[in-house]
Amino acid sequence: MEASPLIRISVWPSHGEGTALVSWEVDNALLGGDFYVYRSPDGIGEWLLLNDEPVNGSYLLDTGFRMRDRSRIPHWRLLCEKSGRSHDSAVVGLFETVSRKDCGVANVIRHTELVRMKGNGLRALYYPARTGGLPCPYVDTETGAHYASGCAGTAGDCYGTGLAGGYRAPMVVWLELYGGSMQGGTNDEDGVGQTDRRNQKARILAAFIPQKGDMVVLHATDDRFFVDKSETSKLRGIIPVVSDVDLVLLARNHDAYRLPREETLP
Ligand SMILES: [Zn+2]
Repeated sequence: MEASPLIRISVWPSHGEGTALVSWEVDNALLGGDFYVYRSPDGIGEWLLLNDEPVNGSYLLDTGFRMRDRSRIPHWRLLCEKSGRSHDSAVVGLFETVSRKDCGVANVIRHTELVRMKGNGLRALYYPARTGGLPCPYVDTETGAHYASGCAGTAGDCYGTGLAGGYRAPMVVWLELYGGSMQGGTNDEDGVGQTDRRNQKARILAAFIPQKGDMVVLHATDDRFFVDKSETSKLRGIIPVVSDVDLVLLARNHDAYRLPREETLP
């Protein structure tokens, strides 16, 4: 592997003005290349290209930057095209303005957790819920009721979320289940899946903040859970390291089980 010629990216946010100055340093080999800058609301997905026209210099002022929600830290990355080749940068978050040493400490904590979880944890797929996009046409806008029989199997199947597609691409995470409680079966007739509601606590090792409505799928059993509450330990209050989440097991007839399952973990 050759070293990336993209040397460093820095992000300087101005929360008051809703802007962020994204600047970069590159190897001589990439000077004068075509640069494209992307922003994600959380570094997980939904990468948005900020410039249709390439930048040939070394910075771009992102004027659409908003920190809507303190739990989602925007991230940026850079693509450079030169001489018919593309170079992708690392992903940088706002936390990159924290010192390199702090990032190192976060990595040490993550590594320690990882070693522990490899002993008694599980690998699972984590599906972030979509937060925008086309609304499902099978939701009654007055009552909020979802007509799963209409939605199921359509190209825009929302899997019960109310937004077409339902979830973003999954990530593999390590998690440790550590406590749960059975609640009496509350049979509901419409099959939305509150039967055998089971709450489960889990510790998830992830450099992002779990959100209510995200889905966790245990690979071995295909048990699927919604994230309910979550509490994330953050180094210096900024860098997410590990989260304790309340999970709710979904009944097998829940819409979420229509989401095709990944057969193998990457
Ligand atoms: Zn639907």
